[in-house]
Amino acid sequence: MRRFVYSGLPSRVIFGSGTRAQLAAEIDALGVRRALILATPQQRDDAERVASEIGARAVGVFSGAVMHTPVEVTSRALAMAAEVAADVTVALGGGSTIGLGKALALRTDLPQIAVPTTYAGSEMTPIIGETKDGSKTTQRTLKVLPEVVIYDVDLTLSLPVKLSVTSGINAIAHAVEALYAQDRNPIISLMAEDATAALVRALPRIAANPSDRDARADALYGAWLCGVSLGSVGMALHHKLCHTLGGAFDLPHAETHTVILPHVIAYNASAAPDALASLRRALNTDNPSLAVHGLAKSLGAPTALRELGMSAAGVDTATDLALATPYWNPRPLDKSAIRDLLQRAYDGSPPVTSPN
Ligand code: NAD
Repeated sequence: MRRFVYSGLPSRVIFGSGTRAQLAAEIDALGVRRALILATPQQRDDAERVASEIGARAVGVFSGAVMHTPVEVTSRALAMAAEVAADVTVALGGGSTIGLGKALALRTDLPQIAVPTTYAGSEMTPIIGETKDGSKTTQRTLKVLPEVVIYDVDLTLSLPVKLSVTSGINAIAHAVEALYAQDRNPIISLMAEDATAALVRALPRIAANPSDRDARADALYGAWLCGVSLGSVGMALHHKLCHTLGGAFDLPHAETHTVILPHVIAYNASAAPDALASLRRALNTDNPSLAVHGLAKSLGAPTALRELGMSAAGVDTATDLALATPYWNPRPLDKSAIRDLLQRAYDGSPPVTSPN
C-alpha cells in the first residue's frame, strides 16, 4: 500500500478565452478597490490596456519588472504601491512579473491577482526567488501564493514561438521532477502526466501556427498543472542544475531548462521507473529523454549550453557548484556522470541513458 501526504494549495483559477474581462469582478470580489498593475517594460502597452479596461479600479502601472526579482526593483515598486495607496496587485506577464507581485506580497501582504502570459508556472507556487547584490535566495511561504489566477488564452497568442517552446519545456521540467519527487503523491503525479501530454501535443501546433487558440489552450492548461506540480512537491537534479547555471553564468531561464531536461531524464531514468512509465505514456514513446531532445530540436529551440553563451570551462565549475549543495535526487549524484551530463548538454549531443 502506498503512503503519501497531499497538501492542496489554495487559489482560485479562472481559465478560458477572453477571461481577462472578469478582472474587474475578481477585484471587487476580493473586496479591494485600488489595483497596481505590474508588467515588464516590453508588456507596458498590454498593462495599460488592462488598466483602462478596469477603469477607476486601476490606480497605476509599474512596468519595471525584470528577470530574477532584484530587490532594487521591488523597492521602487513598493514606493509606487505606497504612493498610489494600492490595496491589490495585478501581475500581467511571465515569471518575472509574477515574481515582483510575490515580492510585494511578501513585504506588504497585498493580495495578488496573477494574469500569466507564459508557461513558467510561478503563479501556482508559494515560492519566491529574489536577487540581492548578484546572489539569489529562494524561499517557500504561502504569503506569496497569488489569491486569484486568471488564465486568458488570448494573452498568450503574442508569445513568440521560440519563447513558447522553451517556456513550454520549462513547464514540462516541473512535471518531470514532480513525477519522481521524494514527496511525490498520486494526485500531483496525475496532474504532471496529463500536463506533460497536453504540452507535448500543443507545442508543435503552436510552432506551426502561433494563433491556434486550441493549441494555446492546451499549452496553458498544461502550464497551469505543471505550476501546481512545481508548487506542491520538491524538485531535484534538473532544477538544481538550472539554478546553478542561471546563477553562475547568467544563462536565460527557459532556454537553460530546455537544454538540460533531456539529459536529466536520461540520468534519472533507471532510478525512477514509475516516472519513466508516466513519461512514456505522456510522450507516446519508449525513450522520453530522446523524445524531449528531439521535440526541442524539431521546433528550433536551443539544445546546447554553448549556444546560450556559456564557456567550455563552465562545465567543471557547474559540476562543482551543483554537487556542493545538492538537492535530493532519485539517482545518487555521481561526479563524473554529472560532468558527462553537463558536457553533453554543453555540446548539444543527444542524451545517453545510463545503465546505473
Ligand atoms: P519572463 O517573465 O522573464 O518573460 C520573458 C519575456 O517575454 C519578457 O520580456 C516578457 O515581457 C515577455 N512576454 C511574456 N509573455 C508574453 C506574451 N504573451 N507576449 C509577448 N511577450 C511576452 O519569462 P518567464 O520564463 O515566464 O519567467 C522567468 C522568471 O520566472 C525567472 O526569473 C524564474 O526564476 C521565475 N520563475 C519563478 C517560479 C516560482 O515558482 N517562483 C517559477 C517559474 C519561473
